[in-house]
Amino acid sequence: MTMLESLDWKTYEARVSGGGAVILLPIGAIEQHGPHMSMNPDILIPQAISERTADRLENALVAHPISYGYKSQIKSGGGNFFPGTTCINGKTLIDMIRDVIVAYAHHGNRKFVLVNGHYENSMFIVEGIDLAVSSLRNEGIDVEIMLLSYWDFVLPETIETVFPDGFTGWDVEHGGVLETSLMLYLHPELVNMDKVVDHDPASFPPYDVFPPDKSWVQESGTLSSALNASSEKGKLLMDVCVSGISKSISERFID
Ligand code: ZN
Ligand code: MN
Repeated sequence: MTMLESLDWKTYEARVSGGGAVILLPIGAIEQHGPHMSMNPDILIPQAISERTADRLENALVAHPISYGYKSQIKSGGGNFFPGTTCINGKTLIDMIRDVIVAYAHHGNRKFVLVNGHYENSMFIVEGIDLAVSSLRNEGIDVEIMLLSYWDFVLPETIETVFPDGFTGWDVEHGGVLETSLMLYLHPELVNMDKVVDHDPASFPPYDVFPPDKSWVQESGTLSSALNASSEKGKLLMDVCVSGISKSISERFID
């Protein structure tokens, strides 16, 4: 049993008192990922990675994910103007991250791993962590927090296998082979490969414009084609992320 909120409070209290437990917090977004896939991969992928990582560790619990994320940007998520893409302000996300960490710390937790699945969240998570660390320090509570984005754990040899025709970068993987393969492996019922729109990887000018220029993004909302996605590739990606993340957590928090 690794889902934190599925425990009764007495069992939870016993698991976390003394600060020895590791709390994994998945952070995602509700965002269109093309006509071939549901709008929740940025939540379901870090959640599955957190659960499988927690299973490998002695005393780790997966907290309920933070599901809403910072505004989708054209160059990394297709943009914040597609029906279904439901984003929150940076300050809301910062407050949410800070408040959740502070609450878990008040229960006795001291070790946290924040597992991000939506690129645009990154610096707002950093700010939420920074505010939580300093407000807890003012109360005399010291916490240690690891922050990671799961795709940073994919090794070069896995990239070669998953992208045999060349890798165009994580930024254009929105709705592409990476996320679609992971979803085919984890939640095949949420993917329909018949609806994949095949197109060249997106390329953008070296600047942004506001309001965003919708002509920069494909009508499908994807930034690269998911045509070569497969469940087998999803398993490879899952395994490399879970083993890399488990190892990093063990080195940092347990050894
Ligand atoms: Zn995504
Ligand atoms: Mn995203």
